[in-house]
Amino acid sequence: MSIQSEKPEIVLHGIPASHGISMGSAYLFLKDSPVVEERFLNRDEVLLEHERLNRSLEKSSKELRKILAFAQEKIGEAKARVLDAQIMVLEDPVLIDSIKKRIDKEKKNAEFIVNDEIGKYASLMLKANDEYMHERAHDMEDLKNRIVRNLLQERLISKIDGSIIVVAHTLTPADTMILSSNQVLGYATDRGGITSHAALFSRAMKIPAIVGLGDVSRYVSSGNQLIIDGYSGTLIIHPSDQHIKEYEQKRDRMLKFEQQLSSLKDLPAETKDGHKVELSANIELLDELEYVVVQGSQGIGLYRTESLLLGRDDFPSEQEQYEEYKKIVDRIYPHRVIMRTFDIGGDKVAPATANETNPFLGWRGIRISLDKPVLFMNQLRAMLRAGARKNLSIMFPMVATIEEVLLAKQYVRKVKAELRAEGIKFYEKTPIGVMIEVPSAALMISRIASEVDFVSIGTNDLTQYLLAVDRGNTLVSKLYKQFHPSVINTLKHIVNGAHKQNIWAGICGEMAGHPLAAPLLVGLGIDELSVVPAVLPEIKKIIRSLNYSEMQELATNALHAETNEELEKILMKFFKKNLHDIPLDSL
Ligand code: PEP
Ligand code: MG
Repeated sequence: MSIQSEKPEIVLHGIPASHGISMGSAYLFLKDSPVVEERFLNRDEVLLEHERLNRSLEKSSKELRKILAFAQEKIGEAKARVLDAQIMVLEDPVLIDSIKKRIDKEKKNAEFIVNDEIGKYASLMLKANDEYMHERAHDMEDLKNRIVRNLLQERLISKIDGSIIVVAHTLTPADTMILSSNQVLGYATDRGGITSHAALFSRAMKIPAIVGLGDVSRYVSSGNQLIIDGYSGTLIIHPSDQHIKEYEQKRDRMLKFEQQLSSLKDLPAETKDGHKVELSANIELLDELEYVVVQGSQGIGLYRTESLLLGRDDFPSEQEQYEEYKKIVDRIYPHRVIMRTFDIGGDKVAPATANETNPFLGWRGIRISLDKPVLFMNQLRAMLRAGARKNLSIMFPMVATIEEVLLAKQYVRKVKAELRAEGIKFYEKTPIGVMIEVPSAALMISRIASEVDFVSIGTNDLTQYLLAVDRGNTLVSKLYKQFHPSVINTLKHIVNGAHKQNIWAGICGEMAGHPLAAPLLVGLGIDELSVVPAVLPEIKKIIRSLNYSEMQELATNALHAETNEELEKILMKFFKKNLHDIPLDSL
């Protein structure tokens, strides 16, 4: 590998978000402050530029209509009017005509003309000494940015050549998806937390990622050589020969360890003294299925169905969903697939509820499903139909109260009655579970557990809500502590509550796949761990290397810890004492 440079080396540390080591050229993804270049077109390009503009206008209009339709009753009359007004401007033939005429006359690219033309109106409005006009100016800016963004995204997809390490200020799951059509070797961002959804997405795609690097997008220019170490969270700009060698060695060491683990593929996740743990995988995309099977998963513990919505403007029909779900259920058969109904909102696929100021406490998950019965019932129908072979379970996200569980179950009954009446096959006893990720649900576990067949703990959200720390906010990422005693004690409370009602309790948050956490979680009595496929063999190796009694003892000690640091120390000591043949590199 010859990526040396004469420039001084810069080493940055961030939060490791997805394992792996890559070396290659940077691509700076400047989405938040789109640089609108002025480009001259040759004669043949002018017509194509009209087509690009039309596509972008159409996409922008569709997006706005979707926001409007989806959130109309939630966002109130005033905001709906604003969106209506934006659509009217967007479809104003005079404006579009003047943009197209300028493209023809000035022979410049569409984003430049759009930026200039709509920008002119916005500045005029800003100059007026009137609050109302100022607000309208911001709406015009919004609209302009939407059209420009759509033009730039289209260009971006076709623009990048070769393999790249994407460097950005922030990345949404949708950005990650768009960029993934290129050969991406890694992601490095200024912002973001380990459980932000863009981070989950890169893990799902097995691409090394580091988030929370602070200022990386200011240090890096496109074309700079980088090393990204997604195990330790180290990013090196202009790496020295010495570092290149060291990281190549580390990469080989980790690859060798990962290869060794493949011999465990068909063995159960069972402790030395015979305690069985169900070890399954989290997936986001259909593309991951083969990898899940190769990694020796016993099933899918969490399928995040909202990934079906990425990169599209509408909701998939019942039939489309059914076909997608059926492929998963058939491929994993006879093992179980737990499908979670859409968890829209928060930092995920946005319901675009027109700028919620606090989306993580807002319209999200089951709250949206219960407010949108048609959407919800479509999804339930698709799931129930796909589960006719009896290996599908349904799970609801973001449940906070027992009322939500009862109401969601009512919809399930209603959908079953419809299917029965229509003579459509489904499994009458399809298990229904909920995610426990909101503190109120954790506290009320006994009551909730009496209504469902299983619970799966979402430690990513549970941690953020227990500690009041936004999971994607770098400013407070130091306070986001998955090993905080409040989290561990809550887990114990949930397991006890679930077992008292004779149902099983699993974990599908990122913690389940953390090598330090796994022995503790098993020791706490967790019945199932659902992890990202990449770490599954390592977690299996850990479980198979230990006695259940040792893990129970560890859990008893851990429950007495008073701080996150104290708990991590206990876990690290246990790991070093009992798990010598697992490289610490993986922690
Ligand atoms: C969680 O919150 O732990 C979880 C698994 O769900 P998500 O990360 O999709 O919010
Ligand atoms: Mg969650």
